[in-house]
Amino acid sequence: MAVQPYDPENIFAKILRGEIPCTKVYEDDHVLAFNDIAPQAPTHVLVIPKGAYTSYDDFALNASDAEIIAYTRAIGKISKEAGVVEDGYRLIANTREHGRQDVPHLHVHILGGEKLPRMLP
Ligand code: 5GP
Repeated sequence: MAVQPYDPENIFAKILRGEIPCTKVYEDDHVLAFNDIAPQAPTHVLVIPKGAYTSYDDFALNASDAEIIAYTRAIGKISKEAGVVEDGYRLIANTREHGRQDVPHLHVHILGGEKLPRMLP
């Protein structure tokens, strides 16, 4: 199945444009992070690039080095500031249909604050 083009009406694009509110936890020139509306753990933060990237592979293959460095660094900073680094946490990037991605704008979930259920793999 072909990769879909970026949909500017997806919910995270609306959050980036300020059309939908969010509880912001971090922002810089390239990255926005906010709490998930339906948290699955005591800490559940979504980290998104500001650029229009549908998925992890789209971002990894098409973003600039500056965007990739900023995004990677922000995930580290936010995890540390959330207080989950010492005990551990989980990063998830659900990708398209088989990966059960609901919102077609790249987002990494940071989950922690308790011992998470084991999952595959
Ligand atoms: P996905 O299944 O695409 O990996 O995850 C999408 C995530 O976005 C879900 O965890 C869902 O709870 C979250 N979400 C969906 N709509 C909103 C919203 O309007 N605001 C916030 N903060 N999170 C949302």
